[in-house]
Amino acid sequence: MTDAPPLRLYNSLTRRLETFEPVHPGEARVYSCGPTVYNYPHIGNMRAYVFADTLGRVLRYKGYKLTHVINITDVGHLTDDADAGEDKLEKAAAQRAQSIWDIAHHYTEAFWADVKALNITEPAQWTIATDYVPRMIEFAKSIADKHCYELPSGLYFDVSTVADYGRLARASTEEGESRIDPVDGKRNAADFAIWRKTPPGETRQMEWDSPWGKGAPGWHLECSVMSEETLGFPFDIHTGGIDHREIHHPNEIAQNQAYCCTNGLEDPRNSGAKIWMHNNFLVERSGKMSKSSGEFLRLQLLIDRGYHPLAYRLMCLQAHYRSELEFSWEGLGAALTRLKRMVMGIEKLKQRVESEPAGQADMSLHQIGEAISDDLNTARALVIAESIAASKGYAGDRLKAIAECDKVLGLDLMDVTRADLRIRPKSATITEAEIEAALARRKEARAAKDFATSDAIRDELTAAGVEVMDGDPLGWDWKLGE
Ligand code: AMP
Ligand code: ZN
Repeated sequence: MTDAPPLRLYNSLTRRLETFEPVHPGEARVYSCGPTVYNYPHIGNMRAYVFADTLGRVLRYKGYKLTHVINITDVGHLTDDADAGEDKLEKAAAQRAQSIWDIAHHYTEAFWADVKALNITEPAQWTIATDYVPRMIEFAKSIADKHCYELPSGLYFDVSTVADYGRLARASTEEGESRIDPVDGKRNAADFAIWRKTPPGETRQMEWDSPWGKGAPGWHLECSVMSEETLGFPFDIHTGGIDHREIHHPNEIAQNQAYCCTNGLEDPRNSGAKIWMHNNFLVERSGKMSKSSGEFLRLQLLIDRGYHPLAYRLMCLQAHYRSELEFSWEGLGAALTRLKRMVMGIEKLKQRVESEPAGQADMSLHQIGEAISDDLNTARALVIAESIAASKGYAGDRLKAIAECDKVLGLDLMDVTRADLRIRPKSATITEAEIEAALARRKEARAAKDFATSDAIRDELTAAGVEVMDGDPLGWDWKLGE
């Protein structure tokens, strides 16, 4: 589907909507900053990958051959995005007296399970940071003379050696600088470590020999190296959450400029990627989403409370990726109902399609093309899919058109059933087979006008947390309470 209109995307670097023009004709190369695997991802983190997946789906829909790379950060990300604190993985390993490698493995698997549950397309490649350390040392060596200086704690990048440092960042300088802890001897507040030396007398679980002594790479260096190695500079699009716009990505861009040996950001080679895209945050009512405070909003918690993970995907798609999105259980419930209604519409169309002659296709597809080409307007694409389900016309054509929409939405609309979408809390004490059997007995009792038995069965079900829903408009006979 290469039809007009052209794809327009918001580039955080130029702060404009730009028409996508691939570096390599017909191709789209995308790099997404991956998770730091010291803990489970929260659903805010997963919003970043639903967004990256939507971008990938749109690029494919528009006919580009997509190469998508997502990294796994298993070393180097400090407890503060700037140069303060400890390595998140070293810290977790010390607290839990476990090997870093085991921790990284466990949380990488957990992340991949969420990726699958949210119907996020597997990227062409997952790059694991620790696999690229020798390449990182080579990269650092190639820029060290001109752009770096050594301190007892590591090799630091001097941000005054590149033009346009920090163009990407939006926070005011003052705000930005106050977030950066001073390190003795730094030439500029924003300078950052590209190699962190193991302090004398200490041994880290993860450390490598380098020209600057034993140590570990800086987090920013990792993404520069993995993106260059897998996609080549310049590649098309680099994505990440909006927090990365302030420190991580400006630092990546500075390194990329240094590596490409020419200065200034006018030449796209120098920034590494032509377009830098950032999803806004999923927030809780109380403010920032965090892995430590209160109830930890993991996808598994949503599933344990009985919600299908695709309801969360739909919740993300309802908002534009550049808007903040507030999570609430009511909002998730509303997204689930919306998904159920769409699926019910599709189930009805599937029943009708057998008996109807074929019609002429091309239903509203230009509208879908228009919506997604407008900086990924998924909220509009959802409405279009719904209106196709509700419109007049041949059932077969409408199903085909909805399947086209779902290539972009990724809601598994053609296969997911209403039964899959039932609320199924982990805490339920009654099985579905038991509920169905009780309801069958109740139906018999009602047919025999034995209302005492029918009421008694209903009371038993209520006591087990089952709400009996006679005459429900979505055709549900029962619902399990949370
Ligand atoms: P991390 O594991 O902290 O490196 O984060 C993984 C991805 O999630 C990054 O792209 C972050 O920018 C993004 N991210 C972190 N918190 C949120 C949030 N609350 N909402 C959306 N994206 C987030
Ligand atoms: Zn990154």
